[in-house]
Amino acid sequence: MRDREQLAERVSAARREVEARGETFYPGASRIHLAAFPPKERWDNWVEVDARTPDKRERRYLLVPTTCFNCESACGLLAYVDRDTLEVRKLEGNPEHPGSRGRNCAKGPATLNQVTDPDRILFPLKRVGERGEGRWVRVSWDEALDDIAARIRTAIVDKRPNEVMYHVGRPGEDGFTERVLAAWGVDGHNSHTNICSSSGRAGYHFWMGFDRPSPDYANADVIVLVSAHLESGHYFNPHAQRIMEAKQRGAKLIVVDVRLSNTATHADHWIAPQPGSEAAIFLAIAHHLVTTRRYDRTFVRRWWNWQEYMAIGLGRANATFEDFERELAQLWARYTFDFAAQESGVPAETLRAIADVIATAGSRLATHNWRSAAAGNLGGWQVSRTLFLLNALLGAVACEGGTYPNGWNKFVPRPIHTPPHPHTWNELTWPIEYPLALNELSFLLPHLVGQGRGALEVYFTRVYNPVWTNPDGFSWIEMLTDPAKVRLHVALTPTWNETAQYADYVLPMGVGSERHDLHSYETHDAQWLGFRQPVLRAARERLGTSGSDTRDANPGEVWEENEFWIELSWRIDRDGALGIRKHFESKERPGEKLGVDEYYRYIFEHSVPGLPERAAAEGTTPLGFMRRYGAFEVARGIGPLHEASVPAEELVDAATDSLGRVYSRAPKPAGPNIVPVPTPDNDAQGRRLVGVALDGEIRRGFPTPSGRLELWSRTLAEWGWPEYALPAYIESHVHPKQLAPDQLVLIPTFRLPVQVHTRTGNAKWLDELAHTNPLWLHPRDATRLGVTTGELVRVETELGYFVVKAWVTEGIRPGVVACSHHMGRWKLEVEHGQRQIMATVGLERAGARWTMRRKRGVVPYASSDPDTARIWWSDAGVHQNLTFSVHPDPVSGMHCWHQAVHVRRAEPGDRHADIVVDTAKSRAAFERWLATTRPADKVSPDGTRRPYWMLRPLKPAREVYALPKRGGR
Ligand code: SF4
Repeated sequence: MRDREQLAERVSAARREVEARGETFYPGASRIHLAAFPPKERWDNWVEVDARTPDKRERRYLLVPTTCFNCESACGLLAYVDRDTLEVRKLEGNPEHPGSRGRNCAKGPATLNQVTDPDRILFPLKRVGERGEGRWVRVSWDEALDDIAARIRTAIVDKRPNEVMYHVGRPGEDGFTERVLAAWGVDGHNSHTNICSSSGRAGYHFWMGFDRPSPDYANADVIVLVSAHLESGHYFNPHAQRIMEAKQRGAKLIVVDVRLSNTATHADHWIAPQPGSEAAIFLAIAHHLVTTRRYDRTFVRRWWNWQEYMAIGLGRANATFEDFERELAQLWARYTFDFAAQESGVPAETLRAIADVIATAGSRLATHNWRSAAAGNLGGWQVSRTLFLLNALLGAVACEGGTYPNGWNKFVPRPIHTPPHPHTWNELTWPIEYPLALNELSFLLPHLVGQGRGALEVYFTRVYNPVWTNPDGFSWIEMLTDPAKVRLHVALTPTWNETAQYADYVLPMGVGSERHDLHSYETHDAQWLGFRQPVLRAARERLGTSGSDTRDANPGEVWEENEFWIELSWRIDRDGALGIRKHFESKERPGEKLGVDEYYRYIFEHSVPGLPERAAAEGTTPLGFMRRYGAFEVARGIGPLHEASVPAEELVDAATDSLGRVYSRAPKPAGPNIVPVPTPDNDAQGRRLVGVALDGEIRRGFPTPSGRLELWSRTLAEWGWPEYALPAYIESHVHPKQLAPDQLVLIPTFRLPVQVHTRTGNAKWLDELAHTNPLWLHPRDATRLGVTTGELVRVETELGYFVVKAWVTEGIRPGVVACSHHMGRWKLEVEHGQRQIMATVGLERAGARWTMRRKRGVVPYASSDPDTARIWWSDAGVHQNLTFSVHPDPVSGMHCWHQAVHVRRAEPGDRHADIVVDTAKSRAAFERWLATTRPADKVSPDGTRRPYWMLRPLKPAREVYALPKRGGR
């Protein structure tokens, strides 16, 4: 409280001081005085002294907002565009952005490095020679577009739509490209999500329909993080600042992380459990809350699907809530603190103490698990599910200080065109073995193609680098170098990466300050819309000049994807006969091509409540407002939408079933917000589920099949996994029982705070800060191995091994080692490549045996940027992911990242970053994990491939959900 008072005093003093000077006080979106930010009234002509000029030269700037593209948080940036030279001189935070509130991490300002990177790709390139030979010629955009468009058109006309695939890493936008694919009629969306967050999502999805949490950190009293969220988690900068606000208020922070991360150092309670034991801990805490009667009975009675569980799960149709409570008291009885202590290695007293802290939160409990334990372990989806169980018990759901469904804290506006769902099902991305997978089985692609399940006519990789990011990268190289499997590979990328080396076309795409996109993410209890824009184009427009497309303002021939996809789609269907072109036509100029100005103008004028009025108040148009401020807050304080009453006009011929679900014949209201929402099934008469009957009212509820929070998942029960229908603990594939006596668990999932996968590798400031990934090793293990810091060790996986330097630290649990996967970038001995962070390697192949050996580390070099001659680091880390086989979780489809490894002293002749892999073993591992699945053609209760209600990034038409008659394939 004292802190708040002091802050309020400081803000008042600042206001008086500013106003005494006759200037306008500028509170910014954060509603506190941001003295460091130029007042928005002066963004057209902001003058600063350039600290780097000896004569203290003044520079005049246009300040143009955009959105950072260096992680998924989509923080606001302000580009300082020099009015005299029209160059971007720096990027800082945008105080008008409701999510980031003017703050950024190191990666945001480093966008400038990416703009000026001397190694960046500036022109379209076409391969000459064999894939991977590294020989390229510059081609025109026209040549590339015509070639790619002709191939896609042929595939569509020949009824081979599943041979067109778009594989995206970080989308950085809300649905534009999914709609492009839908317009083409292809089920070609492939994401990275199953190597990222599918398991975390699955745990939330089975509970509440939405697949992500949105914790209201700022108002929480207790925060539980299963990750290093403060420094590197999902939406971490917007979240981290709110977590710190809560801590300043006195909120307690509990961190569950096997490493002593920077986040753990800020915790009130840090526990480092045995990897994979997290769900056992949360179930023990849940059982404690239940047996000590410290749960919210009213919330549980109203919002859990306990009736469905009792009636259908247990066959007790007339059970009362009190009957259920007696059942509840027994559900997790085996998960005592002693059991959890035995599994986790964390003392029972410590776990009990944490449980008692959580019990004090009441409904002010904010929890988050995204990757981390969920992404590492077989059954990791039960980690997020059991974590959310604590929220559900305390009623800490969609309330102040609690945890919201993500969909209620984001806003996706209705676009100008909405193409229909494609009438095809792609079995390369949604194979029959994984009916409940949250996302595409992307990382299995080489194996599925290798089994002859299909081939690709045109394969786009876009801001995605599977050779490097995915497990089992050599299998990817084997696929990408086989023209019978991939006939054309197009890499859409702002920077060179390991996968682009094996492409046929490399097409230069803009970085965060060179492209248009829309975003909205669940950063707090509000809804906002962020607008990424090419800042030089926007600056020119402000100065009264403009070009025909974004290439006119970007460096070289760097393009943006919006215009690229519109142009490509137009060329696929020039005469409109395929029905594609109409989705890319102007409404203002019928028959002509849609431009980005009209695309966004339409959305801002028609689909964003409040924006036209706000723009008018500022004397501008909605598009003008977004170009000037880069973000708009649509709503704040969303509150418990599940409690909202269903309006009478939505109750047409309504009927309530025995479980209290209310169905109606009223059409779905077409609001402006089109956040992806699950599609619960209709009733037998075809009526739509619109709410649940509760204590005499009809409430909106949750988008689950029951309309309530699902403690018991009928979906899991009926689709082959009845043993997991309730939140449960699944022993990980790296459970101690699975380990040989001398094996350790390798944690390869953690990020470095200043590097994100491939995207930040072309930022020199970040490369200088982080360019290596040693193996964290506890002193006890180091002593046993006879290894000290800096010495080389071999880490042996089931496919082969990698050689890495040891870092002996007490910041890791004994028996566990850790190595960040955001390092180990490499390039072949070729002309092109990103030289600030990529080592140069030699690759040798003998049948299925691959060997990678470093030829050179990073070295200084002459370029247009004098700083490249000052590079002092040589290490680039180790590409450990190459040595991992695929581990698809049979339920969520998530790759289970943790590895059972042997760690030994390096052998004579071993060199840092050596890698040896046998891809035959990787195929065997794939078959082994595939055998653990329960395919749809064996378990489907209704003859479909997948429960229709479950989310899918690009949802096909309902009729193609039917299982094929040929027995599944
Ligand atoms: S990298 Fe992420 S957290 Fe950092 S400024 Fe950019 S969007 Fe924000």
